[in-house]
Amino acid sequence: MKIGVLKETKEYERRVALTPDVVKQLLKKENTVLIEKGAGESSYFSDQDYVDAGASVVSTDEVYAVDILLKVNAFTPAEIQKMTPGSACISYLYAYNQPEIVDALISKKITSFSMDAVPRISRAQKMDALSSQANLAGYKSVILASNHLGKIFPLMMTASGTITPARVLIFGAGVAGLQAIATAKRLGAIVEVSDVRPETKEQVESLGGRFLTVEGAETVKVEGGYASEVSAEFLQKQKQLIQDKIKEADIVITTALVVGKKSPILVTEEMVKSMKMGSVILDMAVETGGNCEISEINKTVVKHGVTIIGESNLPSLLPTNASQLYATNISTLLLHLCPAGFLKLDHEEEITKGVLITHEGELVHAFTKTILS
Ligand code: NAD
Repeated sequence: MKIGVLKETKEYERRVALTPDVVKQLLKKENTVLIEKGAGESSYFSDQDYVDAGASVVSTDEVYAVDILLKVNAFTPAEIQKMTPGSACISYLYAYNQPEIVDALISKKITSFSMDAVPRISRAQKMDALSSQANLAGYKSVILASNHLGKIFPLMMTASGTITPARVLIFGAGVAGLQAIATAKRLGAIVEVSDVRPETKEQVESLGGRFLTVEGAETVKVEGGYASEVSAEFLQKQKQLIQDKIKEADIVITTALVVGKKSPILVTEEMVKSMKMGSVILDMAVETGGNCEISEINKTVVKHGVTIIGESNLPSLLPTNASQLYATNISTLLLHLCPAGFLKLDHEEEITKGVLITHEGELVHAFTKTILS
């Protein structure tokens, strides 16, 4: 099978879909790999590294002559126009949010698979790019926020006085949140955490965080590991609990996500005003509307004396590791879909059903269909 990798074109993107090590593994399965010239440069993989691994480094036009194209970010309608009709592609697509991309894939009869739609089940863990990238994002969120704080994290007793530990408040104890807790604890902070899923309490505590329990949390519905939207009454109770905690916090990291919905506003402008001068908020949910009312996408701003970071692509700030993990995720999915060296779809199989978005000129993905229709 001929596999192609396009260079990312999205602003601030530094990742690449396949790394040289993963190329080697794909070649062992009798595939051919074409890499667009310069595709790995921003993640510190040179064209020569790919050639040494056995890939061919080719021009932009040549990379489209393949059976399956790979990318990190969604293919643009212009890129889809250049694809061979009947060929396949894999990338993040967020198809339910991108009708123009779905239309382009349908009209070109491309079989498309979306990395953001990999089901969160044990069998698919090695393909789960949302988790691998969120894990890195959780780590980087703490490092980035700490760089903007005029304080250290740990308790430090010195001859010149005692420095008290920094206080970090984290919203959402999913993949990103748990890694943020672990990182902040390793640096010596006091970490407090709020999540609507009661089962996260144990995980938070096992990492040394303090869980802030909201009354009524036991009634929140959880489907496939994701929390459903909570009631306005619940959010109000959560707000009351958080109000006092936020005044003491040095860093607030928000990762609260409700799949397919706008992120809940958890930090209002009033709350920001109540925070200490010099404290820092990092809003990881900024791309889906934000958990902080006044964060701005891809900007770091100072409002009411608080630094608010709205970085939407934290994994891209760790491009080498993020590409390594993404390449493992996408190649594992690719081999799952092509067990005999060519695309063989079992439409009833859970992973295939989860990731297949368009096929033979039709939108076939159930969730995307519901949202777009
Ligand atoms: P996840 O689904 O694993 O975790 C989200 C958590 O938020 C869940 O535990 C959920 O119960 C919790 N939550 C939902 N509503 C809440 C509320 N009202 N209060 C407190 N917690 C609530 O998701 P994840 O993979 O950890 O990603 C978290 C967020 O970070 C997502 O919004 C994702 O898009 C974003 N993300 C951003 C970047 C970036 O670079 N900025 C990178 C990766 C992920």
